[in-house]
Amino acid sequence: MILERLEIQGFKSFAQKTVLEFPKENRGGKGITCVVGPNGSGKSNLADAIRWALGEQSLKTLRGKKSEDVIFSGSDKKARLGFAEVALYFNNESRVLPLEFEEIVISRKADRSGLSEYYLNKAEVRFKDLAGILAQARLGTSGLLIVSQGDSDILIKSTAQERRGMLEEVIGLRQ
Ligand code: ATP
Repeated sequence: MILERLEIQGFKSFAQKTVLEFPKENRGGKGITCVVGPNGSGKSNLADAIRWALGEQSLKTLRGKKSEDVIFSGSDKKARLGFAEVALYFNNESRVLPLEFEEIVISRKADRSGLSEYYLNKAEVRFKDLAGILAQARLGTSGLLIVSQGDSDILIKSTAQERRGMLEEVIGLRQ
């Protein structure tokens, strides 16, 4: 299963709709995408956006204090926005996600009232159901799928219980 496209709007520093394509192959090589930019330009916000769309509930992990911290808070040039939306487009030809679709779009939307909605191929789903589907595909936010800056030693530093959670997610026992 391949993450082919990321769409962000109103999430953290991404006020305007931003689309990133992750090509499967590039110049004959396998698709590895590097995002390069100066300090504070929003590189980690991209990883946060992926985590968030996959259902991350921990504000600390998302580097925020309140749930609305993920919504664009305004700049000199642009007023703050009322909602954030992130969509992940997965190529599911391999059927790693247990659904009969070749392309699966997982998205999350939140507004300043605290509302948080999840969508699977544009249809609203309960977080619990989405989490179940992601767990079957071994996708989640507590494992080692996304390793954030400064977290490369996360497996070593974790408690036995946390480590167990990570391993369970990786081997597909989460559900
Ligand atoms: P570094 O290389 O230093 O790790 P980075 O490129 O990973 O930096 P991020 O940490 O992704 O940068 O982005 C930080 C920037 O995002 C800061 O300028 C911060 O003001 C901005 N930011 C975070 N949350 C919001 C928000 N809700 N609204 C607007 N801007 C935000």
